[in-house]
Amino acid sequence: MSKNFKELQDETIAIRKHIDRTYQKEHSNPLYLTSSFIFDSAEEMAAVFADEQEGNIYSRYSNPNVDELIEKVALLEEAENGWATSSGMAAVFTTFAALLKAGDHIVSSRSVFGSTHRLFTEIFPKWGITTTYVDALDYEGYSNAIQENTKILYLETPSNPALEIIDIERVANICKAKNILFAVDNCFATPILQKPIALGADISIHSTTKYMDGQGRTLGGLILGSNEIIAKMEAFARHTGPALSPFNAWIISKSIETLSLRVHHMSNGALELAKRLENHPAISFVKYPFLESHPNVEVAKKQMKAGGGIVTFELKGGLDAGRKFLNNLEIFSLTPNLGDAKSIATHPASTTHSKLKPEERLAVGISDGLVRLSIGLEHIEDLWKDLENALI
Ligand SMILES: *Cc1c(COP(=O)(O)O)cnc(C)c1O
Repeated sequence: MSKNFKELQDETIAIRKHIDRTYQKEHSNPLYLTSSFIFDSAEEMAAVFADEQEGNIYSRYSNPNVDELIEKVALLEEAENGWATSSGMAAVFTTFAALLKAGDHIVSSRSVFGSTHRLFTEIFPKWGITTTYVDALDYEGYSNAIQENTKILYLETPSNPALEIIDIERVANICKAKNILFAVDNCFATPILQKPIALGADISIHSTTKYMDGQGRTLGGLILGSNEIIAKMEAFARHTGPALSPFNAWIISKSIETLSLRVHHMSNGALELAKRLENHPAISFVKYPFLESHPNVEVAKKQMKAGGGIVTFELKGGLDAGRKFLNNLEIFSLTPNLGDAKSIATHPASTTHSKLKPEERLAVGISDGLVRLSIGLEHIEDLWKDLENALI
């Protein structure tokens, strides 16, 4: 079956892109749970090791299930190539570690995933790599923060958990003018809703743990970019070992077959619930990228197909009201994951962002009463009843 996948729509790619299944003619994709691969002769082995012949050697370098996942998501992201890692954080770490050296500098949007913040503030400084934060929507600030030694600009949009929407095309133009690389953590949007590389970014990064798995089973990460960039990822990752397990790759690739259905369904539910929450007396504000009241709704509609499954809102009653709300929920799970079929509620001030100082939390839009919902696939009226009951 030979297809020009670039001519196909996302939903078709997500289902029909698969590894060769010529051996037993399985319809469902087989799992290659093997650490190494054998050769028919010394000559063949030598040729594969010398890169003169294609072939798998060892699953820390490549594996058919991992390759299937990479090729599928590279098509969805309109990227030339990709590299898979054992978690989203391994993808974030590998990206910087492969591209930067001591003395280099990163410019980042201020509101980044908690562990990414730790990487910038606690781990990279040990190796002489420094980071300057810029407020998410301060475009002049991005430009001004770029120094002689700046190699890469990094951002998350929609941001977590404040759901700020940064104009990817606008930042891409700043990076091109300054001749630095531009990487986007595309975890919240998925390539179904947003394609950073098509909008001018050099690198798109994923935690597949979230929407791509979609059922909260596996950890995984992906880095998408040009052949030149991915060659650097490979040179670093082959010898440092953040490889994705073939089993996880098999699960994630299978899950992506329903990614578009899931994220669109979750987005519809999230928008409807956001509208209802906006009218609730216990709530001071609701943030959702496609709500007309969102300050960046025009940018969101320009670069995203739908608003995604995350809704945030602020309880007027602050920290106490946040705890009470979580304890009153009966359907929503209390767990830090997101993008799962099961709806999830978190209270960032007491969990994911509890290690930040209160003023650092406020700088990224996290007040004491802020609640983050990840809308899953349960019936929307059951979810609404659960929220209403918990808000009393
Ligand atoms: C979860 C997450 C990560 C880290 O991914 P893991 O798979 O948990 O390591 C990175 N960025 C964002 C935006 C995330 O939500």
